[in-house]
Amino acid sequence: MIADCRLTGSPARVGLRANMNSDLDRLIELQRLDSAAHSAERRLAEEPERQKAFEARIEAVRQRVAAAKERLADNQNARRTVEKDVAVHQGRLSKFRDQLMAVKTNQEYQAMQKEIEFAQAEVKGLEDKILEWMLEADELTSLVKRSEAELAAEQKAVDADRRTMGAELSDLKALVERLAGERTTIVAALDAQALAVFELVARRRNGVAVAEARDGICTICHVRLRPQVFNNVRRNDQLIQCDSCQRILYFVPAAVPATSDKVSQPAQ
Ligand SMILES: [Zn+2]
Repeated sequence: MIADCRLTGSPARVGLRANMNSDLDRLIELQRLDSAAHSAERRLAEEPERQKAFEARIEAVRQRVAAAKERLADNQNARRTVEKDVAVHQGRLSKFRDQLMAVKTNQEYQAMQKEIEFAQAEVKGLEDKILEWMLEADELTSLVKRSEAELAAEQKAVDADRRTMGAELSDLKALVERLAGERTTIVAALDAQALAVFELVARRRNGVAVAEARDGICTICHVRLRPQVFNNVRRNDQLIQCDSCQRILYFVPAAVPATSDKVSQPAQ
C-alpha cells in the first residue's frame, strides 16, 4: 500500500508519504515479506502429505488390480476342482459300463443303469458349472487387463503431478530465499528497538505484528481504538501499538482526500 501511495501522485497522499515514519514503513514491508515467507514455508511443509496422497492414488488402483487377479485365480482354482470331480465321475461311469457287460439279472442291469444315469447327471451338472466358470474367467481376464491399464494411466498422471509439484516447490524455495535476502536488507536499515517490538509481537500473534487501523478500529483484533490513539495512528509518524493485541498500527488514507469531497461527488 505504501508503494501505491508513491505511484498515485495525489498531493494529499504524497504529503502523507513524506510524513510516514520510515521505521513504520519498513515494518509494514517486513510484515509483507514475513507473511509471504510463512505461506511459502507452509506450502513447502505440505510436501510429505502431498507425496502420501500421490502414493495413495496409485495404491488404490494397485489394489483394484490385485483384487481382480485374486478373483481370476479363485475362479481358476474352483474350475480345476470341478474338473477333478468330473474326472472322478467319468472314472466311475466307465467302471459301471464295464460292469454292465457282466451283470447276470435284469434287476442288476436296472440297478446299474440307474447308477450310470445318476453319474451322467452329475457330470452334466459339473460341466455346466465349468462353462459358467469359463465365461466368468473371460470377464475377469478383461477386468484384470482394464485395471492394469488404469494403473499404468494413474502412474503416468501421478508422475506428471509430481513433476508439477517439483517445479512448484523449487519456485517456492527460490521465493523463500529471495524474501530472506530482502528481509536482511530491511532489518539492516531498521531501528533495533522497532525490530525487537515487531519480533516480540510476531512471536505472540501468530507471525502478524502489524495491523491496519480503519474507521477507528484495529482491523485484526477488531477492538475500537481510543479516538486520540486513532488520530495519532492516522498521522503514520510514530510506532503505536494496539492496546488490545499489541500489533503495530498503521493507517491507509482514503483514495479521495477529504478536502476534495465536493469536487468528486459522483452524480446520482
Ligand atoms: Zn488490535
